Amino acid sequence: MTVLYRGRFAPSPTGPLHAGSLVAALASWLDARAHGGIWIVRIEDVDTPRCVPGVDRLILQQLATCGLVSDEPEVWQSERGALYLQALNQLVAKDRAYPCGCSRKDIEAALQAAGLNRERHHAAVYPGTCRPENGGLQGKPARAWRFAVPHEPAVMTWTDRRLGPQAQNVVHEVGDFILRRADGPWAYQLAVVVDDAAQGITHVVRGEDLADNTPRQIALQRSLGLPLPAYLHTPLVLGANGEKLSKQNGAQALDLGEPVLALQRAAATLGLHTVAGSVPEALQAWISQWKDGFSLCARP
Ligand SMILES: [Zn+2]
Repeated sequence: MTVLYRGRFAPSPTGPLHAGSLVAALASWLDARAHGGIWIVRIEDVDTPRCVPGVDRLILQQLATCGLVSDEPEVWQSERGALYLQALNQLVAKDRAYPCGCSRKDIEAALQAAGLNRERHHAAVYPGTCRPENGGLQGKPARAWRFAVPHEPAVMTWTDRRLGPQAQNVVHEVGDFILRRADGPWAYQLAVVVDDAAQGITHVVRGEDLADNTPRQIALQRSLGLPLPAYLHTPLVLGANGEKLSKQNGAQALDLGEPVLALQRAAATLGLHTVAGSVPEALQAWISQWKDGFSLCARP
């Protein structure tokens, strides 16, 4: 029988699971189970300087304590460089990737000279200085490979299963983004797109903080001729300061002394009703609720 649904949970081992990441883990697992599909865990450890040794195993243990176990052997992105290189070579062959020799200072100077002040998440929008049609590297050493964002269509549109119709002008809001640093590390965008395709992922369920990455990933999928998965971005858990709970702003590791309580909180964030019982009993009840048309699907 062909499995029509393959989903994944893809944590970065920069810190243990916290209340926010458990929401995404639970949602992706429930969506896979409700569709009779496969659920895979992928460790996204391409950003090696930020990864903490041993945290990958700790996350897998935390998930298992919550009854969430990968249906297939887990994969580590740090072991998949050959696949990413193949994709980069394909993009280069299609003139969709080029080397860039700009430092952060170069980029700021170029933006200023052009009278632009384009910023996004405190990062300057790359002005395309090293695009081949603008003269290429011009003798500078390469610092990174960038994706030549297609200008047609400039506005990328897609429909999120929860957030509804979405649009982003990738050319103006993001610009040609980095695929790989010259010193080795692969960018998250490329690794995710390559892995989702290589693993046959049909449905991406992840936190809403990543929704903004989707148009870049769709642009890459189209340029590489890869299938587009369906997207569902789950609600975020906010910390006391009203900001998204994350490892970066000091989210506490999950207290899994009573895993069912941690799961109840995650389920509540997803709009599911509290159910009594053990971890397996609660998970089973939430699968039924999810199948019945979970409130999350309706609107943000
Ligand atoms: Zn450049």
